[in-house]
Formats: sequence, structure tokens, C-alpha cells
Amino acid sequence: MVVFSEDHKQETCRRGRIEVICGSMFSGKTEELIRRLKRATFAKQKVEIFKPAIDTRYSEQAVVSHDNNSIQSTPVDSSASILLFSSEIDVVGIDEAQFFDDGLINVCNELANRGIRVIIAGLDMDFKGIPFGPIPALCAIADEVTKVHAICVKCGNLAYVSHRTVANEKRVLLGEKQEYEPLCRCCYQQALQKEHK
Ligand SMILES: [Zn+2]
Repeated sequence: MVVFSEDHKQETCRRGRIEVICGSMFSGKTEELIRRLKRATFAKQKVEIFKPAIDTRYSEQAVVSHDNNSIQSTPVDSSASILLFSSEIDVVGIDEAQFFDDGLINVCNELANRGIRVIIAGLDMDFKGIPFGPIPALCAIADEVTKVHAICVKCGNLAYVSHRTVANEKRVLLGEKQEYEPLCRCCYQQALQKEHK
């Protein structure tokens, strides 16, 4: 079980730091990102949210989580653009961070060094269980990492990977419920064995 602490000091003091929220699909990453950003807004902080321009599943302008609890965002085509748009901002949110280039690591450090609170949400692994894009390095440089979990659809334990249920080797296949299922390690191994028979 994940217990979220309520660190009010982080929400009211302007202090540079990096927070990573990672996990598989359907683990509630974006919901947690939105929750933290909304609280920062209530604390009268200036918030800006970025997402990679590649993720246009729902709308160009909003970070939209799967339950439609949305918040306005700016799509950018590279991590460098985030620095350009982040002057006069207290809190920077970054959604779907796994799709950004590796430059995002330096960008997040630079923002935190300027006194900005950076909150990053992203997939820790791709559908094969391989660490995804800049997320592993972002976890390393973060002040705080929160790993959230979906529930395995086969057995009800905590899931660890987003298993792709359609045959497609492309790494970037934007997620919808019918194309992925969260599985625990044990059920994922069983699914792979079935596929390779
Ligand atoms: Zn399972």
C-alpha cells in the first residue's frame, strides 16, 4: 500500500526539488501528479505543466488522466523548451516524461537549482519490462521517488508491468485499456510462456 505523506512545507515554501512519480500503466501516476499540482495551486503557487507533443491522445491543451480529472498543460517538442517556458514559475509538472529526450535530466536539475519544485510523472518500464527513456536517471537524481502500482488483472496482487495484449513490437504505442493489461511478475511470466508456445 502506498501512503502519501502530507508534507505541507513542500507546498508552501519555494524550494527547489525533484519529485518522481513512476509506475506501470493504470497505476494512478497522472492522478497523483494532478493531486500535487492542484494542492500547490491552492497554496497560491504558480504552476505550469508540460507534456511531450507526441502524446495527443485526448487533447492538445490538457494533461488528461484516464478518469478525466484534467488540468491545463503545454505540449512541447523537446525538453529544452521546458526551460524557456519556466520563468516566474514555482512548480513545474511534467507528464508522460518517458517520451522525452535524455536532455530532460539536465533540464530538471537546472529548474530545481533555480528554486523550482519539479514533479515528474512517467512510466518506469516499457511493455517488455525494460526501463523507459529518461525515467531511471530521473529517479536517480530525484529528492523523492514515489512508485505507484496498478492491480494485476489476473490475480489481484500489485502489478509490476503493463503487458501488451496486441502483437506489435513498436515501443511507443499510446495506451488504451484494450491494448494493455497490468500484471504482477508471476502472471506476466505465465502470459509470456503462453505467447511463446
Ligand atoms: Zn498476478
